Formats: sequence, structure tokens, C-alpha cells
Amino acid sequence: MIRTSESDHQHRRTRTVAPAGAQSVDVATKPQAMTSLDASAVSRLLREFGQRTALRPGNPYRAKAYARAADNLLALSLPLEEVIAQDRLHDIPGVGDAIAGIIERLHRTGTHPALESMRKEVPQGVLELLTIPGLRPDKVLKLHKELGVSSLVELEDAVRAGRLRKIKGLGAAFETKILQGLEIRRKAEGQRHLHRAAELLKTAERHLKGAGLGVVRVTPAGEFRRGCELVRGLSLVVEVKILTDGPQTLAASDQLTVHLTDARRYGITLLLATGSQTHVELLRRLAAEKSMALSNDGLRRRGKSLPAATEEQIYAALGLPFIPPELREGTNEIARALAGTLPALVTDEDIRGILHAHTDRSDGADTLEAMAEATRSRGYEYFGVADHSKSAHYAGGLTVDEINEQHAEIDRLNAKYGDRFLIFKGIESDILPDGSLDYPDNVLATFDFVVASVHGRFNLDRKSQTERILSAVANPYTTILGHMTGRQLLRRPGYEIDLEKVLAACARHGVAVEINANPWRLDLDWRWHEKAIALGCLMSINPDAHSTSEINLTHWGVEMARKGGVPRQKVLNSLSLSAFRKHLKSRRTFVRPGSV
Ligand SMILES: [Zn+2]
Ligand SMILES: [Zn+2]
Repeated sequence: MIRTSESDHQHRRTRTVAPAGAQSVDVATKPQAMTSLDASAVSRLLREFGQRTALRPGNPYRAKAYARAADNLLALSLPLEEVIAQDRLHDIPGVGDAIAGIIERLHRTGTHPALESMRKEVPQGVLELLTIPGLRPDKVLKLHKELGVSSLVELEDAVRAGRLRKIKGLGAAFETKILQGLEIRRKAEGQRHLHRAAELLKTAERHLKGAGLGVVRVTPAGEFRRGCELVRGLSLVVEVKILTDGPQTLAASDQLTVHLTDARRYGITLLLATGSQTHVELLRRLAAEKSMALSNDGLRRRGKSLPAATEEQIYAALGLPFIPPELREGTNEIARALAGTLPALVTDEDIRGILHAHTDRSDGADTLEAMAEATRSRGYEYFGVADHSKSAHYAGGLTVDEINEQHAEIDRLNAKYGDRFLIFKGIESDILPDGSLDYPDNVLATFDFVVASVHGRFNLDRKSQTERILSAVANPYTTILGHMTGRQLLRRPGYEIDLEKVLAACARHGVAVEINANPWRLDLDWRWHEKAIALGCLMSINPDAHSTSEINLTHWGVEMARKGGVPRQKVLNSLSLSAFRKHLKSRRTFVRPGSV
């Protein structure tokens, strides 16, 4: 899915892994005691522990907690031995007393009595089936018990032979889902969502800082720093006070690479560790054209090293402005930098208001007041609530009465806020199968804005799905088109639509295109942003928050917009409160006076 990830991997492999010996290397490569297991091995067993727990009746959250802890173990930047000796297992997110006990036992003895007894229940191969997106444990058990399926290969054979549809409760749609899931799984191998990568990198950073290496600063690099929507290898650049043998690359675990460097070479180490490989290769060529050479120590001209403490210095020596990491995919960024036409990318600070958020009236966790207050306390100027509409029964969609109640509550809160902050009355209206919105016009007219989204009937053919969305875009009440393709990363592909046609319609009707900031969605895909802007679209970076903490997801949407080359001027919610009100007014002259 990410073109550059493989090349990064190769890039890393070709660089030398540092020999043990330097003070800092000791910690990461110190041999484990013979009898105990390292973090990767314990992580594998803990994952198995979680998978086997998921296949038994009981609390599904427990199974998830094991899986999460197993994942977090992989990002340890210190040997597990040491973490246990320092009694710091509890520092690992998701590790409480119970899991810490299991980890210690697995580490010490290589197994656990509970694991051994669960191993008698189902064969190992069945656990693979749990890694297929969308395949729940109860269905896995059914497949195993009723069809004798015990591995991925057997499952695929059974699907292709049409054996599943003979079982009650499974069917043709289920078969399609499995085939899709198998395909996603193949592509997803080793990839993780941005927010998970962020958590793992934070844990690794914390451990490095606590390891007594003389760490001065730590910066995440690689795909994460480039804002790739899925991250395969994790990478950290670490400045240490004393570096005996020059910059070193350590494979701290299966998943994490640590690049040790010093202040003098921080820029070059960060540049190389960030990639992409294509970008770095193009820089090398540019350097050669200018009679310079780019090495692990930085640029050299006529045998003399040039300053390499910051990336800016290196770009400047090449006659380039700083190129933001998100743009370093080796497409046209260097040509644009040379021509002075790099876009000034939107930043987190440019976002002035939060639109598209849910409250406990639909499927959110927090009250309207709590959501508004959380938005205000983060320094934003306005909050646009957008709960689910009435057809979304499964998500507590709002009836007309509930809408009236919510609007009265908004009026009350707004009176309290005065000029300092404003709540806008919005709704996330389902786009019904025929393309209409979910309420009659007289109800739609009571909203300040409408996010129109598809939540069902994903399997329409491309032409009908496109027509359906086009008619929602043409509806004068639609303000924003929500998560345009419905994709969920590592879970399901988007539905089939003619994206270009829909984007052109959004531009024509002045409907903003959502960049849904939920790391599972990140929809519209960044690869389409430039096109959208060229067609004349405005983007809206929305967290689709279902709790106060999810307001922070906005950051991932900003990352995507940056990756897609979106400047502040093209972002609807970078408008100030007064400009945003004007925008709504100009679009909706028929909105009742005083409501905006
Ligand atoms: Zn939605
Ligand atoms: Zn939503």
C-alpha cells in the first residue's frame, strides 16, 4: 500500500549494524540469560495467550488487553531482563499487575500453566484465523468445529470450494468478506495505524531516556515522520552526549531501529533515517551534480565536510529550502523546492474549530457540554456537533425531538459562552440509498451545517454509488461530505466510486471534502488531496470524535493534509469564527436568521 516502505526497509538493511562495544550499544544488544526469553519471544507468547483467551467464553476486553501489551513489548528499547530487574514493567502501556505477572513468568520459564491448558483446546493454526480483519472469534470457532478448518490455507480452500455457504449462519456475503479480509491481511503484514505507531514510539523513547545512555534528544523518523497512513518499521533518531564510533544503527527489536548520533551529525542522521529512499537518492544525485557527495556524515565538497547538525543546513547547501518530511516521497518535491513552489502546509496551530464530533446523544461517550468544553480548553474557537441522524439506529441516531432538545441545550450554552466561543448545530446525516438526506427540509433547515456520510449499502455498483453521493453533494443543505470512500485501514477497502467526479461536484456545489482524522479512516486518502484542490475543493479536517480525548485525533488529519500538500487557505476549519460564520451564511442564505 505504501510505495516507499519496502525501499526503506532495503535502505536500512544496506546500512551497517553497529558492532557491540560502544557504551550505548551494550544496553540494546546485551545477550539474554540462557534460560529467559527476550521481549520478542515473550510478546509472541503473550499474543498467543490473548488469542486463545479470545476463543473462550468470557471477557473479550481481556483478550484485547493481552494483544495490546504484546504489541507494546515489541517497542521496548531496553532488554526485557533489565526492565523486569528495574521493576518497570508497569511503565509499559496496558501492563497492570496481572499481565506483568504473566510476562515475568513467560520470560522466566518460557510458558505459563494457563497457556498450557488452553493449548489443549484448539490447534495452533486456528489462531491464524483470528488475524483476518472482520472475522470474529465465534466465527473462527464455528469454522474450526463444523468444517475442520485449522489454518489460513484450509480456510481459503474451503471458501473457494463453496463449503462455507453450506453452514448455517455463514453465507455468500461472509465468503466475500473472508476473501477481502485475507487480501487485506496479506497487504497489511507488519503495518500499523499511525496512533499505534505513536504510542509505541513514545514508550520506546521513554525507555531510552531512562536507560542512562546520556540521551540528549529523540526524534521519530521513518514512515511515521513522513506521515504515512500506515507504518511498518519504527525508527528513532537519538542524540547521545558521547558517540565513540560515529553514527550507529541498532536493530533494537524486530520492529524498532534506533539511530544513534551526536549533535554535529544530527541533521544528516535524521535525514537518512526519515527517507524515503527515493527522496534521499534524488538528493544524492543533486549533490553529485553540484560536485558534492552525500554520506552518513553529511555532505562533502572537495574532501571537506559541510555542516550537518540540522536538516536545514544540508538542504541549504544543496540550494534547497527545507522540505517537510511529509513531502519526501520522491515524487515532485525536489523540483518544486528548486522552483520555489512548495506549498506552505497547514499546521496543527492553523486549525481554529472542531467540526464533526459526536456526543452521548448518539454513539459518543461524553455530553455536549463536556465535548464543547474540551474543545474550548484546547484553544479552539468553535465546536460543531454532528451526532448521527435518525436512520443510524445502531448508533443512536437522533429523532426530531432529540434534535430540538439538543438545539435548546446549544442555545443555553452559547448564551453562557458569549463571544468567546460558539457551538454550531450540526448533524452527520446518513446519505440514504437513494442519495437523499435523512430528514425533511424543514428539519435540515434548523442546522447550521450538515456532514453527509454513507454508513450503509457499501456494495452498490460504482455507477449507482457515485450517483447516490452526487445527489447528496448537490443537496443545498450539505456542507461537508464525510469520509468519502468509507475505507477503514487494515479492515476494509472503500466502496467503489468515481472519486474525480465526486470531487468536481464538491467543488461546483461548494461542499467541503472531509479529511477524516480518525487513524482507522484517514479518508479522503492523501493521494487525492492535490487533485481535490486543483479542482477547487475546500477540505475540512475533522476528528469524528466520539469522546473528549478523540478531539486530539485532529492531529492525524493535519498530518494527512500536509502529506497531501494542503495549505491552510484550503482548509474550512482553519477559518476564524467570524469567517466560518460568514462561510455558512453565504452557503445557506435560507438558514433562519440568527441561527448562524
Ligand atoms: Zn460517519
Ligand atoms: Zn461521525
